[in-house]
Amino acid sequence: MTSTTLDTVAAVEAEARARLAEAADEAALEAWRLGVLGRSGSLTGVLRGLGALPEDERRAVGAAANIAKQALEAALDARREELRRAALGSMEALDVTLPGRPVRRGGLHPVTQVRREILDIFARLGFATVEGPEVELDEYNFGRLRIPEHHPARDMWDTFWFEREQATDPAMLLRTHTSPMQIRFIEQHEPPIRIAVPGRCYRYEATDATHEWMMQQIELLAVDEGLSMANLKGTLQEFARQMFGPERRVLMRNSYFPFVEPGVELSVDCFACPGNNPACPVCRGSGWIEIMGAGMVHPEIIEAAGFDPTRYTGFAAGMGVERVTMLKYGITDIRAFYSNDPRFLAQF
Ligand SMILES: [Zn+2]
Repeated sequence: MTSTTLDTVAAVEAEARARLAEAADEAALEAWRLGVLGRSGSLTGVLRGLGALPEDERRAVGAAANIAKQALEAALDARREELRRAALGSMEALDVTLPGRPVRRGGLHPVTQVRREILDIFARLGFATVEGPEVELDEYNFGRLRIPEHHPARDMWDTFWFEREQATDPAMLLRTHTSPMQIRFIEQHEPPIRIAVPGRCYRYEATDATHEWMMQQIELLAVDEGLSMANLKGTLQEFARQMFGPERRVLMRNSYFPFVEPGVELSVDCFACPGNNPACPVCRGSGWIEIMGAGMVHPEIIEAAGFDPTRYTGFAAGMGVERVTMLKYGITDIRAFYSNDPRFLAQF
């Protein structure tokens, strides 16, 4: 055994540090640890050799070897941390103090928001929401609503028809209004009936600022004993107040739809001007805004469904959801809704 001196300790430490600086991964660090600090390690060999030294020398070399051991253990930890940081830096610098990246959240389409709002109002008034088919039979879209073939009222709706494979196939179309569900529901249910029917409707017509080939409607139907025009007016007035403000007044004007008798056009007083501003974009100075068609269900429809029209009466109404949305938000072009420009949609 060669004699161990303070110089030996310094040489072992220097060599260990030089090799540690070359260790580039965890496996190399572990090999270095075994080679220096392990059972047969270089520094461990120095400590083992202490016993052969004279006592005064043993104390001095032992102290130096223990200091070197602690220093090399610290150097190992430091080298491991250095390698870990280098690995992180090669991926991406992470600064936890930076503000987070905003997560873009979607929102409900304005027409969807207003459709839900309308249905909520009618739900509070006792109307259940039901839905019906968009591909409809001629018989339900027109015939049973008292609009037979060649009836001039068909001109009120330009229709998308499906081609028939055989002349005997039933005529089918994309529904032009939600009114067919009046018939479908009354055929299947006993009065009292109170339903609101939301849904898409289709018109074969050119689009402009107030017409789209697809639009959403909400149909209202109530059938019960003793219903009158007063119930219709009260229901729609309450709707107008909740939708457009508590001061709203409603106006009914005579109108014609084959499936109601009498038929009315319902307007609310203008909420965008005092009612006399010819430049008002909402009412154009008339003071009134038409929002829906309505009326008392025609007695023939109640009778055709199997109920006694002298005992049961009903009222119905239909409104365009886009139109209500345009009025509510002062939108002047219906085409904005379905052109899907996020700059428009993000405002709601
Ligand atoms: Zn006005």
